[in-house]
Amino acid sequence: MNVKKHTLSRLGYSEYRPLQERAIDALYSGQDVLLAAPTGGGKSLTYQAAGLMRNGVAVIVSPLLSLMSQQVEELSKKGIRAKFLNSTLNPGEQDDLVWALRHQHIDLLYLSPEKLVQPSVIGFLHSFDISLFAIDEAHCISQWGSFFRPEYSQLGQLKSSFPDVPIIALTGTVDQKTMTTIQESLQLKNCLVLRNSFDRSNIKIQIAQKRKAKQQILYFLHHEVPGETGIIYCRSRKKTEELASWLSDLGLPSLSYHAAMSEEDKQKNHNIFSEQQGTIMVATTAYGMGIDIAHVRFVVHLDLPSSPESYFQEVGRAGRDGKPAKSLLLYGLQDMLQAQQLATLQPLSATTEVQHLSSLFRILEGRGCRRQNLLAHFDEHIPACQHCDRCLSNKSEQNMTIASQKFLSLIYHTKGLQPFSVLIQILLGKKTKPVLAISAQSLTLFGKGKELSEVQWKSVIRHLIAYNYITLGTFSVFSVHINEKSRNVLQGKSQIIIPSEHYYPTLQEDHIAI
Ligand code: ADP
Repeated sequence: MNVKKHTLSRLGYSEYRPLQERAIDALYSGQDVLLAAPTGGGKSLTYQAAGLMRNGVAVIVSPLLSLMSQQVEELSKKGIRAKFLNSTLNPGEQDDLVWALRHQHIDLLYLSPEKLVQPSVIGFLHSFDISLFAIDEAHCISQWGSFFRPEYSQLGQLKSSFPDVPIIALTGTVDQKTMTTIQESLQLKNCLVLRNSFDRSNIKIQIAQKRKAKQQILYFLHHEVPGETGIIYCRSRKKTEELASWLSDLGLPSLSYHAAMSEEDKQKNHNIFSEQQGTIMVATTAYGMGIDIAHVRFVVHLDLPSSPESYFQEVGRAGRDGKPAKSLLLYGLQDMLQAQQLATLQPLSATTEVQHLSSLFRILEGRGCRRQNLLAHFDEHIPACQHCDRCLSNKSEQNMTIASQKFLSLIYHTKGLQPFSVLIQILLGKKTKPVLAISAQSLTLFGKGKELSEVQWKSVIRHLIAYNYITLGTFSVFSVHINEKSRNVLQGKSQIIIPSEHYYPTLQEDHIAI
């Protein structure tokens, strides 16, 4: 048996996936590799196998302590000599580890970026042979990403300190900017860039309008994924706790997870979730990176993710075993405005956050197949998937050019200072307090939008925002204005076609038998 096959069977697998094999061959011959593959794409095996095949210790840098201890545990069970260098080791254990490393009794060494960049640790690494460096979650290097970790930017010194040791950078995101930043920061030389398809076709994508979100979730849990294990993502910590206890009261076993919980509680909930089938984890995005639980069957977003990349990664936590899984994202105009406002408040990265959000809005509002729209963001072009909510619906679309003209000209006539809800009331001819307060009943457009319902107006507005026909104010989303693009609509030079609106169904809690 050749060394590659032998290594594969030591790791417990029977066949390499094509991309794994190419990455391993390159590393084995000493070449640097940048491997972009979605969560669950099998990235870990590349550095584990190449590390075992080359002489010396493979040094694996990961930002996730839980992932490192999990991998070390699994590898040890397979008889692989893997260790985790971390600050919880007592001096005796540290001495043992140093001795084992110097005497070549260890093949894979895991440590955090914070640990690695300590000068004493870099110095220590020079005292034994290193087979390769693996930089996991390498997108943390990029300030463009949402997971920036400052220590990652210091990892560039590895190449200058160890010019002959190949480096593999692994990432779950693929936008060109991040890929370039990774290569430059790590000073990768003559690097083999590999990217796997990001199409996780076993996950059904559903994106729908939010209305009575809790009841919509009940419908999903009851009709689409009864008794299954899954994650519900919410933005606020409080909401995770409230929703988890509400669901538990209804007899649906649920836990919460967020950054403000104690490490002990987080670990406890994570353990229950990974061990007990049928548990629902209601979490903020603090529950995420590196979670590898094969039987997660669904992911729900009750609030908007911060970027297409986060959406993709979060949804990708379902169906890691390759079997069918489902996702549901619920949102509305209000969510878009709130997310936009939060993004503009980011002290350092407002522009980037707003850009990420705009890309997300265009995916959510885009016409046609959801999967096509999402993957196009990752520069991947696929045929319509036939099983997202769009492909499964009648795909009807409406020409909303006239409605858009009315709305844009109303913004103009109210100087962009009125909330969208008031503009809708004006178009629907409702004499509400805020409408009367600005004497809007005397505007020509008052009552001239009754051909559409409130829901339809909201979807027109969402589309106009997503495609930049309306410019939202930097400090207040209520100060909005029209622009060059919207002038083209007003002059009839461009058409606005939008997909027909639908709500995801609801289920009342008294329909759930406890
Ligand atoms: P990533 O790091 O890209 O998120 P992992 O390395 O955790 O992905 O792998 C995801 C899953 O795929 C794991 O459960 C792993 O056991 C499985 N896997 C990886 N490579 C292979 C292979 N060659 N054959 C079968 N299963 C594999």
